[in-house]
Amino acid sequence: MFVHLHVHSPYSFLDGASSLEALLHQAAQWEMPALAITDHNNVSAAVDFHKLALDLGIKPIQGAEITTEDGTHLTLLAENNQGYQSLCRLITAGFAKGDRHQCLVPWEALQENARGLIALSGCHHSGTAQAILRRDHARAKAEVLRLVETFGPGQVYLEMIQSYLPFSKRLLEGIHKLHEELRVPLVATNNVHYLRKEDFPIHDLLACVRTQTRVQELHPERPFNGENYLASPEEMKRRFAAFPEAVENTLEIAQRCSPALDLTQNLFPRYFPDEGPEKAHQFLRELTWQGARKRYASISAPLRERIEHELSIIEQLDAADYFLAVWDLVQYAQKQNIRYAGRGSAADSVVVYCLEITNVDAFSRGLLFERFLSLERAQKPDIDIDFDARCRDQVAEYVYKRYGPDQVASVCTFHTYHARSALRDLGRALGYTQEELKRLTKNIISVPADGIRRLLHKLPELKSHPLHQSKYSRLLDYCAAINAFPRQIGTHLGGLVISGDPLTKVTPLQPSAKGVLITQFDKNTIEDLGLIKIDLLSLRTLSAVSDVVQQLPELNYNQIPTDDAATFARLQRGDTVGVFQLESPAQRSLQSRLQADRFEDIVASVALIRPGPIKGNMVDPFIARRRGREEVTYIHPKLEKILAPTYGVVLYQEQVIEIATEIAGFTPGEADRLRKVMTKFRSQAEMESIGREFIQKALTQGVDEETAEVIFSYIVGYAGYGFCEAHAAAFADTAYRTAYLLEHHPAHFYAALLNAQPMGFYPPNTLCVQARGRGLEILPLHINESAADFTAEENSIRIGLKQVAGMEASFLESIFQERAKGKFSSVQDFVSRTNVSKDVTENLILGGAFDWFSSNRRALIWELPQYYQNKQGSLFSEAPPVKSHIPDFAPFERWLKEYSVLRLAAQGHILDFFRPQLPKTVLTSRAVAARREGPVQMAGLVIRPHRPPTRSGRTVVFLTLEDEYGLIDVTVFEDVYKKYAKVLYSEPLLLVSGNISRRDESEHATITATRIQALR
Ligand SMILES: [Zn+2]
Ligand SMILES: [Zn+2]
Repeated sequence: MFVHLHVHSPYSFLDGASSLEALLHQAAQWEMPALAITDHNNVSAAVDFHKLALDLGIKPIQGAEITTEDGTHLTLLAENNQGYQSLCRLITAGFAKGDRHQCLVPWEALQENARGLIALSGCHHSGTAQAILRRDHARAKAEVLRLVETFGPGQVYLEMIQSYLPFSKRLLEGIHKLHEELRVPLVATNNVHYLRKEDFPIHDLLACVRTQTRVQELHPERPFNGENYLASPEEMKRRFAAFPEAVENTLEIAQRCSPALDLTQNLFPRYFPDEGPEKAHQFLRELTWQGARKRYASISAPLRERIEHELSIIEQLDAADYFLAVWDLVQYAQKQNIRYAGRGSAADSVVVYCLEITNVDAFSRGLLFERFLSLERAQKPDIDIDFDARCRDQVAEYVYKRYGPDQVASVCTFHTYHARSALRDLGRALGYTQEELKRLTKNIISVPADGIRRLLHKLPELKSHPLHQSKYSRLLDYCAAINAFPRQIGTHLGGLVISGDPLTKVTPLQPSAKGVLITQFDKNTIEDLGLIKIDLLSLRTLSAVSDVVQQLPELNYNQIPTDDAATFARLQRGDTVGVFQLESPAQRSLQSRLQADRFEDIVASVALIRPGPIKGNMVDPFIARRRGREEVTYIHPKLEKILAPTYGVVLYQEQVIEIATEIAGFTPGEADRLRKVMTKFRSQAEMESIGREFIQKALTQGVDEETAEVIFSYIVGYAGYGFCEAHAAAFADTAYRTAYLLEHHPAHFYAALLNAQPMGFYPPNTLCVQARGRGLEILPLHINESAADFTAEENSIRIGLKQVAGMEASFLESIFQERAKGKFSSVQDFVSRTNVSKDVTENLILGGAFDWFSSNRRALIWELPQYYQNKQGSLFSEAPPVKSHIPDFAPFERWLKEYSVLRLAAQGHILDFFRPQLPKTVLTSRAVAARREGPVQMAGLVIRPHRPPTRSGRTVVFLTLEDEYGLIDVTVFEDVYKKYAKVLYSEPLLLVSGNISRRDESEHATITATRIQALR
């Protein structure tokens, strides 16, 4: 028998071409008792490897091929958990030492962290092999002795690899000689990078991607031949016929090692470190009931029962400390006046609501706690919180301080291959040109890389796609082979793990691109190691809300009435620019069609405008049913209970789980697996297999096959985009409240949105046009009146100095310092008293900051160099300014210059300058909005042309035209788009001809374009 002890998985990042599953299944077929995974400088595969190997009856040996500070390779295996911990510390030390993404493990660290590790001397990049290849025998000997000294006698093996390369013979002889001299035992490996010899081309292609070369080009890091596959024990014996003990020793090592991961521990810090868990249970109970009395007027029996039920599950899952930790950090936020809102499935919990982590009353909404936490699934809780974007890092800092820097890290994420990225990377490596790649990826939507063929046959618009040609057949095979392989490690947005012990006990830490330390396990595997993730996200909307609340002491944001008629009327008009989640053209149109009159409608709105429901054609039926125009029917009576709240449409992830349980009799655990397969949609094969399982089980539940298939197709239509109801409700809460602010406090709300830029769907100028449309005055920039930020009065908004292009903090400081001493009396006075650069002063003039002094901006700019000269040579400081008699900019130029330095204009709209020349047939947005049907022409500024995924897969461009009165949305279908694409994407001002389109009498008018011209 033989055991492979040097094996690379796809986590070697483009240096391992076969999946863990494939490698392990082969090993199991050979009845190999054990297998080691040794990826380059990481243990990212460890959890999956551990679980899968044990399932197959194979002992998992954790290891890594590390790079030392001399740039040489060394193969390390963990004998036990202690060895695994050593490995984690070593890799961490290597990343701390290396530059950015390099891991270079210092020898000093190796000496300090050698316990529990077995060292194999390494591949031909190792110190030993390099010395042998240089024929430096003394050095080779010294390298081995250093290993023995570092890891201890009995812990070091001389690694032999027979790759049949030109230098292999010399290398093997050299190693054998060292073995005879130093009595260090031999071990055979095959430095495995792929499963079978036939897989070599994939490995080589990945190496091309890694080294950014093409198959026709040479690169020293490309593999030489196809010998480094998972060779059979017989083959390995044959290769090492001259060194039988090298083969036998693999078994000896395998026997010495035990599975090194401990997946049973809970590393989450105890809220009361020195007490038993009961103390935390008790405290959580107290806080929850205290909160319940605050949240609810009275505590009814069912509510009491619900809270008791949640608390008991939390206790049984030993999760009280987690809730307390999250409570602790929102306490910090409250004390610091940092606005936050919990999101995600945590909003399914009443306890979380009572702890004031979320704002969604799960009890009165009837949300099931089990969707968040259940005994059967026994998963870890996962609470996500949005914070005021300006303060998110402050909260994270608090967490680092509270628990210590060794015990907090960001969670990593793996960018994995899907259809498009695989086509692009492998196509480039195969030498295809940029244009060819463009053709090959055209209309290939986001599906797994093993689902491209299926897609080609499924979508009508792909009927004559070039990928059908037989010359691309191999490319498609290669893409399928690397499906879901990790391509790069990155940082999960906002996810932090907190540990009671140093994190290196379970994971190495490495710096992210931004410099924060990240784990080597992503959110899916980190929990198995006993860690729990908390998501701290930043949301600029909350920054805007904070601003409004701060300025309006009479406004009680948390007590905003939930049934405000004026707010709903605004939604029904689709007049929602600035409202969280409801402001995009698609949402504005939905709002005008849906005629929302209750909070529930907003929750549905948030979930409806998503790729899933849009592609699954759920939006129109939902609207028709909601408005009573279409009968609500259910394909199976059991669906009624589940889908009644959404009129028979599958809208929420929770419903998928319930359907799986009700129709197919899935256990909650199985249903959760289905949900995961659906939401991740990582593999076509996996999807089809779970589909068969669903239909099979549904049949045994007495559902007929056809119905089961249709029901499963509902679920599949939803795949990849699952949206959870609790999350939609949490977002809807903020959406409704911001709509209320927009309705009742427009000046303050617009000002706050302008201060929180960049955010939302629209540029600052659009917000100003909207504000003017509400009768608010936009007051120009004023060097003596403007604050740094936009500031609101009851009926006006003053532009802030921060908005000026090039403005720096030090300039602002100097302006305010001087202004406190006395107002500026002239441009000259301003120049002499502040440190503001000439360029920025010029921008201030162009932005209108000195209009009160002289409205002739051009003249002021003309005089500017003189003032700066005077400032330099103090001798002439008294010299009077040049009296200039030059005329001001022409009105249009003046407007454009203001717009270019402020990204908005205090007065007027660019269309004002074009309107007089336009024929009367070109209507204003107001006139268009009043039309019911027929052909129209409208001119305006183009806002955000975009091509969202559509149900048919055809290209449809949506854009918004803005004129001096407001917005009109325009739809451009593929044929028109093809004709005018160039104008559409290159011209800022367009004249659009088309037809009014309204799908509903209440929907606001949109234009379907037939002709697009540049407006100049
Ligand atoms: Zn190597
Ligand atoms: Zn290797």
